[in-house]
Amino acid sequence: MGEERSRNFIENEIDKDLKEGVYDSVHTRFPPEPNGYLHIGHAKSILLNYGLAKEYGGKFNLRFDDTNPTKEKTEFVDSIKEDVRWLGADYEDRLFFASDYFDRMYEAAETLINKGLAYVSDLTAEEMREYRGTLTEPGRDDPMRNRSIEENLDLFRRMRDGEFADGEKTLRAKIDMASPNINMRDPIIYRVAHMTHHNTGDKWCIYPMYDFAHPLEDAFEGITHSICTLEFEDHRPLYNWVVENVGFDRPPRQIEFAKLYLNNVVTGKRYIKKLVEDGTVDGWDDPRLVSIAGLRRRGYTPDSLKMFVELSGISKANSTAEYALLEYCIREDLKNKDKRIMAVLDPVKLIIDNYPEGQTEMVKGVFNPDNPELGEREIPFGRELYIEREDFMEEPPKKYFRLFPGNEVRLMNAYFVKCVGFEKDDNGKVTVVHCTYDPETKQGTDKEMPRKVKGTIHWVMADTAVGFTARLYENIVDEERGVYDENGDVNVNPNSLITMKECYAEPALSCAKAYDSFQFVRNGFFCVDVKDSEEGALVLNRIVSLKSSFRLPAGNQ
Ligand code: ATP
Ligand code: MG
Repeated sequence: MGEERSRNFIENEIDKDLKEGVYDSVHTRFPPEPNGYLHIGHAKSILLNYGLAKEYGGKFNLRFDDTNPTKEKTEFVDSIKEDVRWLGADYEDRLFFASDYFDRMYEAAETLINKGLAYVSDLTAEEMREYRGTLTEPGRDDPMRNRSIEENLDLFRRMRDGEFADGEKTLRAKIDMASPNINMRDPIIYRVAHMTHHNTGDKWCIYPMYDFAHPLEDAFEGITHSICTLEFEDHRPLYNWVVENVGFDRPPRQIEFAKLYLNNVVTGKRYIKKLVEDGTVDGWDDPRLVSIAGLRRRGYTPDSLKMFVELSGISKANSTAEYALLEYCIREDLKNKDKRIMAVLDPVKLIIDNYPEGQTEMVKGVFNPDNPELGEREIPFGRELYIEREDFMEEPPKKYFRLFPGNEVRLMNAYFVKCVGFEKDDNGKVTVVHCTYDPETKQGTDKEMPRKVKGTIHWVMADTAVGFTARLYENIVDEERGVYDENGDVNVNPNSLITMKECYAEPALSCAKAYDSFQFVRNGFFCVDVKDSEEGALVLNRIVSLKSSFRLPAGNQ
């Protein structure tokens, strides 16, 4: 895949810049605001930016855009660092905080004032809106637009020194009140806000606005290509205005691409926050969420997310991807990496009446027929086993080839067994299936067998079984009702989490640690939960089932 794909439009732009000598190297960044956990969309941005830096032998910065003191939290800084590192985007010693540049941003604002390109305004927020005009009408000049440089400098310094209340004064860039682009109508670049900042404490009571701060952050760090999502396209003229007028030798260049959207999936911070707060999900890392922490806990791997990002493509046009593509990627990634073992999720006892009581023997099983390097193990076999409840039927429909009275099946890796009876409890629930086995049918190929059977089922020996809890998931969104209800809340699927408390696996599961994943024969890929799993009481999350009707779109094979 990777190598053969055609170059995306961002790579074409970079190639051109390098060829024309606009830049002689490539330097990208990922600039999250630490106000929530990262999700799959951010993973796309991280992998894109990091991938470009790698591809061109350049540099990649992780920069926290922490210029807004209200919403930011250290909890989010820590989780973001962990997520970025886990994705393999190595920022080494290139970790930055925008708030470390407050002094330089302040200086840049004074530079603009000295050039006659910024002024202090007395307009209230409401007046500001009135003066701004509309899409069809130009704005009107601020009455203070022509203040002298000296007066502006004096007022701006007094803003900094705390003489004014929140909202009383702002610093505006002097650009063009008649611009068809409203972002260019003398935007506010500094505001008064008497707030404590998590990094700079009470040092500042004025804070730069995003559209002023962001281009400066990029320029200070020597970023060449500032890659962002499409909603910033209309802000690009302002971005360029800032870096040009503050004066940088090789100002960064902004390039926009389309956000990643997933059909029927909740990504918005606001919605996830609500699900977390009302207890619908178990935190930001609930395995049903597409937060990076949730995907990791579910058992997704960095490689599977990379494949997903590659396959979903980088483009300038908005489009949506299917969750099934994500599932395809994790199956592809794990199918040859994981050990395949037998585990029973919904057990019923199977007793082999003619097998000696108290006897145990070992049968062999390769861990993964598609990857011999994973080796093989010995699996204990005896008189009492567990099988899946659905692998026995008292009255089978047509084409049911598993166990029913009189029918013979193969126990995977072991013998042929024939059903000779069963027991039920008072409620009519089957409690035991009785079989006899044929000692002549141990392991071996079809040719070596005395006769053919149509069904093969998996099993676990009861005495040596490792008990565990399995969690099976469906989309947290009730797809039939749509993502949101009329109040804008998420329509939660009541079956999004099913907990199976009495599951059994062969002994190979016993040494599993957090994040280890396995393919359970016929049941899917499972991952040991990092939060709820304990030694002797494992909890595994189903990452994905084995089969799907999903096909890669043509051209992606
Ligand atoms: P907010 O709504 O709080 O601004 P955000 O998702 O934009 O949330 P940021 O921290 O500002 O969060 O995003 C960091 C970077 O991730 C930005 O460069 C942004 O463009 C990019 N990004 C965010 N969402 C997506 C997405 N769905 N697809 C691709 N990139 C995204
Ligand atoms: Mg944002």
